[in-house]
Amino acid sequence: MTRVRYVDADILIIGGGMAGAGAAWEARYWCRNCRVVLAEKANINRSGAVAMGLSAINTYLGLKCKENTVEDYLKYVRGDLMGIVREDLVYDYARHVDSTVHLFDEWGLPIWPEPKTGCYVREGKWQIMIHGESYKPIVAEAARKALGDENILNRIMVTHLIKSASNPNRVVGALGFNVNDGTFYVFRAKATILAAGGGSQIYRPRSQGEGLGRSWYPPWSSASSYGMLIETGAVMTMMEARFVVPRFKDGYGPVGAYQLLLKTRISNAYGQDFWKPHVDEIRKLYGGKGKYVDSPITPTTLRVFAQRLEWMAGRGPSLMRTEETVKKGTDSEAIAYEDFLDMTISQVVIWAGQNHEPSERPYEVITTEPYVMGSHATECGAWPSGPEDLTPKKIDGLPGDRGYQYYWGYNRMTTLDGLFCAGDACGANPHKFSSGSFTEGRLAGKSAVLYVMDHSDEKIDMNRDQVDSLIAKVMEPLERYQRGRYNVVTGPSYMHPVDPTKMFWKQGLFRLQKIMDECAGGWSNYYMTNEVMLNRGLELLQFLKEDFMNYAAAQDWHELMRVWELWHRILTAEAVIRHMLFRKETRWPGYYVRSDYPALDDDNWHVFVNSRYDAKTGQWELWKVPVIHIIEFP
Ligand code: FAD
Repeated sequence: MTRVRYVDADILIIGGGMAGAGAAWEARYWCRNCRVVLAEKANINRSGAVAMGLSAINTYLGLKCKENTVEDYLKYVRGDLMGIVREDLVYDYARHVDSTVHLFDEWGLPIWPEPKTGCYVREGKWQIMIHGESYKPIVAEAARKALGDENILNRIMVTHLIKSASNPNRVVGALGFNVNDGTFYVFRAKATILAAGGGSQIYRPRSQGEGLGRSWYPPWSSASSYGMLIETGAVMTMMEARFVVPRFKDGYGPVGAYQLLLKTRISNAYGQDFWKPHVDEIRKLYGGKGKYVDSPITPTTLRVFAQRLEWMAGRGPSLMRTEETVKKGTDSEAIAYEDFLDMTISQVVIWAGQNHEPSERPYEVITTEPYVMGSHATECGAWPSGPEDLTPKKIDGLPGDRGYQYYWGYNRMTTLDGLFCAGDACGANPHKFSSGSFTEGRLAGKSAVLYVMDHSDEKIDMNRDQVDSLIAKVMEPLERYQRGRYNVVTGPSYMHPVDPTKMFWKQGLFRLQKIMDECAGGWSNYYMTNEVMLNRGLELLQFLKEDFMNYAAAQDWHELMRVWELWHRILTAEAVIRHMLFRKETRWPGYYVRSDYPALDDDNWHVFVNSRYDAKTGQWELWKVPVIHIIEFP
């Protein structure tokens, strides 16, 4: 007997990470009478990418102390993404992000003070240092206080968005289930904010059997934002810009504090510079009209690429020369360890296990498997409307369809009415990181309140049959397991029971990771791919989708969550491959190289790639949208 609870809300927030917490706080600020409900698959006190904590806030402009300007920041972000960003969206969160950080300060987050100036200690030009182990509990407390604990529903895995029965472009809520007790939740909401984070484990991770589940972006970032957006028919953008970061080998420890604060250099295996031998070649292929190679801060993707060229030339691995900057018993050693203890504890555990002393020896740096994200140095996600005061209202010469335009009334509303996005879920505006994601949540929250007020008379039209059949679909893997539970051919293996009539989540996940790694530019192919490989990937994904529909099985509620996470990852993977196929150039060589189009092509591809999936027909549509500069730089 399935238990179903209906929850009515003015605003539903899906995901209680940085963006979800920001949306909760801001929505309640503007609408004290609104019922705002937040559904989170874990527990917001320790959920999302910041679960373990962080050691720096990566986006803080320091306007108060005149450290930077919004224009400088926009220029940097544009250059880092090789010229393609929605400048209206970046400018918008950048002008508000400092106020978010000041709120964190007020709420008790220990930000390192700069006593002489009254500002904060800088890690780099845009980053400030924090003692951030408790970053997430502090931010979550603000969201909990704003909404009231009765409106925060933890342990709810949201699987599907629900559309209005009478308006196919209108989202009116979502469906999820409690992963502990199996109660289904049908959320009916006037506005929905999707903030379910980014996507890891779509590509085969570097750490496999020996460290299964270890990755830089956390394994619980299950691409639910993208999966739900895609399946519901929202226009997606820049899904090809899936992202690769340099990290300490095996533990995926971040490198920011080492490079920026401690000024540690990365060398090749022989202590030499990795950039100089390749700069001329990189300038030739990827210089582009924007002269990205020569910008004051070299774009992330080009630095990553140069390291790879060194390995391919046989001069790897890359080494972080910690022995030159970390001195035993000094502050530098404390910083080196705190950096990991704040956010990637596994790196310290690995160093302890290997008797590694950073003050004595350098340590290897590798590039990770690709992640699908919208908040870091990349920009996958939904294509949203921009803010009224910055965004061009109508772009002449382009179709009126929202998928081509930049503005349709509500800031951060996706192309679907009533559905907003924030954080990793929201595309074309990178470099938000934790503070910018919270800020974008605030922007979406405020905008959703406006939408609710403008549509206060509208009745939510949710079809009962549609909901019942969705619940039946979500339950199916559990029932499939029960129906055929005695067919198991071999007993529990290290992975899962083997049964020719069932596909358990790990079996499906490993298959997906193999396809993406080998066909779509994963680490085992040095992030290289081409049309033939991508088409083969699509064909194999198609088989995987069919098998998911017919064989996906789950033994309990927890596995059912993993099964639907897998579905979200599969849909996301398909979008990634289709976008990579469509963009016939190599724009971010550190992230992937199209070997059949190995150079940057600004004449034809200085554009966004947008897409829309039609779940009824299974058809995808992809197109180009021009990049509009709202600020001209000399
Ligand atoms: P998240 O914070 O990940 O939140 C997403 C939420 O959605 C989670 O709570 C998740 O449980 C929930 N969810 C997912 N799927 C579902 C579903 N189906 N149903 C219900 N809920 C769901 N930023 C910095 O500023 N400085 C740093 O130094 C820094 N370092 C980082 C180091 C690491 C190791 C990592 C992983 C990230 C780091 N970041 C840093 C980036 C920052 O954490 C992210 O940019 C930010 O958390 C993104 O916010 P978000 O709300 O979009 O996603």
